[in-house]
Amino acid sequence: MKTRKNIYWLLSIRNRILIFTILVTLVPSFGMGWFFYSMTYKATARKTEQRLIDSAGKAERDMSLWLKEQDRDLHIFASSFVLVDNLTKYQAGNSKVRSKEIDNQTASSLKKIITYLNLLKSQFPDYRRLAVFDGAGRKIAASESTGESSAFTLPPGWETRMASDKASLGEVFLRKDEPEPLMVIGLPVYSDKHDTQLGVLAVEIRLQRLLPFLKALSADGEAGPGTILLVQKDGRPLLTADFPEGQQETALSSGQKLQLFTHPFQLRTFNNGKWIVGLAVPFKDLPWGLVISESYDRVFADVIRSRDRIILTAILFTLITGLCASLVAGQTILPLEALTRGVLRVAEGDLDVSLDIRRKDEFGVVTGMFNEMVVRLKQNKEELERLAVTDSLTRLANRKQIMGSLKTSIENYRRYATDFSLLMIDIDHFKAVNDTYGHLVGDFVLVQMAEIFNKALRTLDLAGRYGGEEFLIILGQTNIDKAMLTAERIRQAVEQALFVYQDVELHITISTGVTGIRSGEDTDNILIGRADKALYEAKVLGRNRVVLNADDPVEPTSSDV
Ligand code: GH3
Ligand code: MG
Ligand code: MG
Repeated sequence: MKTRKNIYWLLSIRNRILIFTILVTLVPSFGMGWFFYSMTYKATARKTEQRLIDSAGKAERDMSLWLKEQDRDLHIFASSFVLVDNLTKYQAGNSKVRSKEIDNQTASSLKKIITYLNLLKSQFPDYRRLAVFDGAGRKIAASESTGESSAFTLPPGWETRMASDKASLGEVFLRKDEPEPLMVIGLPVYSDKHDTQLGVLAVEIRLQRLLPFLKALSADGEAGPGTILLVQKDGRPLLTADFPEGQQETALSSGQKLQLFTHPFQLRTFNNGKWIVGLAVPFKDLPWGLVISESYDRVFADVIRSRDRIILTAILFTLITGLCASLVAGQTILPLEALTRGVLRVAEGDLDVSLDIRRKDEFGVVTGMFNEMVVRLKQNKEELERLAVTDSLTRLANRKQIMGSLKTSIENYRRYATDFSLLMIDIDHFKAVNDTYGHLVGDFVLVQMAEIFNKALRTLDLAGRYGGEEFLIILGQTNIDKAMLTAERIRQAVEQALFVYQDVELHITISTGVTGIRSGEDTDNILIGRADKALYEAKVLGRNRVVLNADDPVEPTSSDV
């Protein structure tokens, strides 16, 4: 029952209008909002992607340029007279039959090479170590070490690179015993005539040297908090630059980095407690790549702001429309609800309903008609009720009604001791009237008789048709003395009346039995019995008279014709 009520409530016209309006507002505004949001989101993502790719391109260009500079420098050093001459002498000395002089010369050449290497190292702070190797990759000479313990070796595959006269550019070594990544660049050293490869000049460069290039990117005005990571193509990290310095908020896990590298140039979003966007850019010409990650909130700040604004606007919009709909619904529904309440009251039997007609629209018309219908219904009901208790011929109270009144009078006497008397009247020789003049005349006499009674009675009294031509009259607040007087007055009025129906003229008389309420013991049957007995007396005594019941305390008064 309760759920059914709830469903009715939900499906009430007012709520349907509300739900409909809210849906009609919400769906398009959120739809449009979502559309614009995703457009802005995509545009921002594309723009960010492009910005990061451009940054990475710039980094690659800078690093390539720097590497070429290193290559060029190394070319100059590798073809320098000091190195070529001394290496030639050293190689020549080594290949000859040993003698003290030759050994001295070789040692001197070696020393000059080392001095040269030390000189270069001191002039170029990027160089960590320099060394010269022979054609088999064995180290001939190296710059002075400053405590480094690891061996200076050529990178794997150097022979093929040297054979093609290419510097071993960009190969990075992550030596286990080194705290920082190192890069080795090597170039072949040729003889004067450029016909023999004397050996290899190689330099170890600290990769830390590349950090400024990464930092230069983060100095970009648009970049938010983020991390730039230089990685090898296999994803192994080489260098990290955080901005602002030292923050780790945008650091990605190695799995996430790998994911980015499997889909390079695409902006991806991760949630590491905080939301992060990341993008991987493999370099074209260098064996490295960049992984750039930035704070999602920063990158999409405008998008988030406009999304929040859209949601707020949509909610506001919905509230306003909902309110308007509620007002309109109220305008429409309130009179309908009033009408419904009115109809329910009528259905429950209450016909004292009259609704306010405040409007001049359809509701006003319907309400007016409803009121009219209720008034008519009430009139009809009252008429029906009246008919139900009225004798259809004489318009006096019918037997049921007069008996009911008698019971009420007895009840009132018992409660409030309100006196009353009862008259029982029978028309004399009525059968003869019918027989002589016909039933229509008989009926006419009955109707006239009722009029005579009504004229003689007060509002406190009630006359009713008890049977065919027998009547009961209750005289309210009347003792038997007064009742006898009233009965006599009625008898005389009847006697003196001329009953004229078409060409028939008649005189009629009545006999009346009188009794009064005497004690709380009296019932309707006892009273009627006493009145009937008195009426019988009146008939016996010769009719056209009033007789008081013999048991009543006052002596009967009678009048003869
Ligand atoms: P009494 O003086 O002894 O009362 O004589 P009476 O002729 O009146 O005798 P009774 O009371 O036996 O007769 C009643 C008659 O009243 C019988 C019936 O034909 C007639 N009557 C009863 N109801 C009606 C009615 O509604 N219309 C007409 N026209 N006659 C009625
Ligand atoms: Mg009779
Ligand atoms: Mg009679």
